[in-house]
Amino acid sequence: MSASEQQTSDQSWFTERHERSGSSFGLRIKELLHAEKTPFQTIEIYDTTDWGKLMVIDGCTMVSTRDNFLYHEMMSHPALFTHARAKRVVIIGGGDCGTLREVLKHEEVERAVQVDIDERVTRLAEKYFPELCESNGDPRAELLFIDGIKYMAEHEPESLDLIIVDSTDPVGPAEGLFGADFYASCYKALRPSGMLVQQSESPLVHLDLIKAMRSAMRFADFQSVRTLTFPQPLYPTGWWSCTMARKGADLSGFRERGAATKQFPTRYYNVDIHRAALAMPEFMREALGD
Ligand code: SAM
Repeated sequence: MSASEQQTSDQSWFTERHERSGSSFGLRIKELLHAEKTPFQTIEIYDTTDWGKLMVIDGCTMVSTRDNFLYHEMMSHPALFTHARAKRVVIIGGGDCGTLREVLKHEEVERAVQVDIDERVTRLAEKYFPELCESNGDPRAELLFIDGIKYMAEHEPESLDLIIVDSTDPVGPAEGLFGADFYASCYKALRPSGMLVQQSESPLVHLDLIKAMRSAMRFADFQSVRTLTFPQPLYPTGWWSCTMARKGADLSGFRERGAATKQFPTRYYNVDIHRAALAMPEFMREALGD
């Protein structure tokens, strides 16, 4: 048995095996701090030796203290610096509250509603990831614990500027968040020039999903669709993506001056990172036709 095989079979490592890509990712853990089965999913919280706290849902890594900034910043700032002035924002999922915290850094945002199906995710984030929840008391924030699919289906038409879908993988309660009916509800709820942005998994192993999402978005009448990539060590392959769709306007540029002179701190996002994330590698261009 090689040294690396010994490590992965050791109880002191949390390992997420990703069958589809024949790979796995592991973090050395100190202890399991909490585990519970909610009506929607199984949530575990670990303390790790080098990555801070780790949240796992149904065996899949969700958030670590060390690298969540990459994902949360890229799920929010590129969209907010593309829209001219997003005043009303809805986050579907995102129960760890990290995306909400980033969204509220933008002073043009007047209201941000986070809609997660599982209140326990937020309550555990408050306890184990308090830094992600530091803006939950902002008067512009509202936290709802209901199904995001139903919430969007019943939303007042033409009333939102930006919808961010920060969900689990497309299985279980999140499955319907990746389909044309959901995108049609989002389209209806958005004002002219409104935008949708959704986490769209790994460009290396989920290109078929990204392709299907993009056609479903177009089918729902979104005029323009764009996929951005960024690193995320915690998720399968370590390379992740988000896909943006826009109603009645294109996605060819963003507010570069605004991004370059932003009045709040970020750890990953800046104007160069935004430009770089928009660059489309050859294999993606070929597969997605961009
Ligand atoms: N960044 C993570 C990732 O890509 O793996 C996602 C983090 S966030 C914790 C995902 C959230 O989506 C979970 O809290 C889960 O409860 C929520 N969720 C799943 N399906 C949902 C639905 N139909 N409506 C609202 N929230 C949902």
